Amino acid sequence: MNDLVPLKDFTPADLELWIQEAGQPAYRARQLLKWIYAQNVEDFQEMTDVSKDFRGWLEQHARIPSVMREKVLTDKDGTRKLLFRLLDGERIESVLIDEERRLTLCVSSQVGCALGCRFCLTGEQGYRRNLSAGEIVDQICAARRELGPEERITNLVFMGMGEPLANLQQVAKALEIITSDHGLNFSTRKVTLSTVGLVPEMLELSRLFPIKLAVSLHAADNETRSRIMPINRRYPLEELLEACRQLELPRRQRITFEYLLLAGVNDSSADARKLAKLLKGLRAKINLIPFNEYPGSPFKRPSPNRIEDFQKILQEKHYTATVRQSRGAGIMAACGQLTHSP
Ligand code: SAH
Ligand code: SF4
Repeated sequence: MNDLVPLKDFTPADLELWIQEAGQPAYRARQLLKWIYAQNVEDFQEMTDVSKDFRGWLEQHARIPSVMREKVLTDKDGTRKLLFRLLDGERIESVLIDEERRLTLCVSSQVGCALGCRFCLTGEQGYRRNLSAGEIVDQICAARRELGPEERITNLVFMGMGEPLANLQQVAKALEIITSDHGLNFSTRKVTLSTVGLVPEMLELSRLFPIKLAVSLHAADNETRSRIMPINRRYPLEELLEACRQLELPRRQRITFEYLLLAGVNDSSADARKLAKLLKGLRAKINLIPFNEYPGSPFKRPSPNRIEDFQKILQEKHYTATVRQSRGAGIMAACGQLTHSP
């Protein structure tokens, strides 16, 4: 199976090229794309309007799946954690989060992560490898297979394992497939990518796709941020926020700044005021994330009162500041709790 060409690694344009290079007419690429993405078929034999000969040829040369469903865990709050195995035996996770009018899929972009944020289980476990575009896209196709008849994935977030901008090449290819009407046909407004703020890649991404951006800020001064996020030594706050000011945002779109609340580290009222000052003039909204605890972590979640106070201070300064409900904590599927270990 390893030497078969993984079709979900191709953008629609690349698939057409590949089909033509194989001496097949271009319309066959469209036919294939329809079966793969609109019908979500994994077996060439189900492609009933494709000639038998061509189906046989495809079976010899290509494969559709890139991830294999291992199991699904469902939390009592309805959150589903999907565990996948990759062809080389690595494991990744995606999370389906069911909210009132939204069904959001959180996808992974790397096996592990090299950036080593102190509060993140994925980071603690280190980096294994980048995912291919097909492995990113196939998490969505596989998740769709888990849905009930009335369910539809409405939103996508790149907030699973890994730093998506550290794998920009494959992530960009995946976004092409995700947003193309010959691919998964998501509106760019329904896709959000979360990053620690790799500055050049952030600027490049915003030129390529008008998707929504979420920046993991987590501290309002360099000293605190460098202590919990080593990447801050490479791209300190001034540089990161300057890049945020330069981003060309679609009309009325704002940047989401994620702010993890760690008890006694960055959750004081003075921190909240510093944060408000730091984001002045930016088209920003703030998403407060109370720390999700996991075994072995030195950090603690602040009390509900502290969280509320922090939020109030930001709101008094006229920011939109929401508190992220931690979903899926019962099955270790909440932010920062994803792992590639079995
Ligand atoms: N690598 C990217 C995207 C994945 S993490 C990033 O860091 O932005 C998605 C969000 O979960 C980030 O804001 C991250 O800082 C946050 N997170 C990490 N560990 C967490 C934890 N233990 N509790 C709550 N949020 C956490
Ligand atoms: Fe990597 Fe994001 Fe975890 Fe930091 S928070 S270690 S960047 S996955």
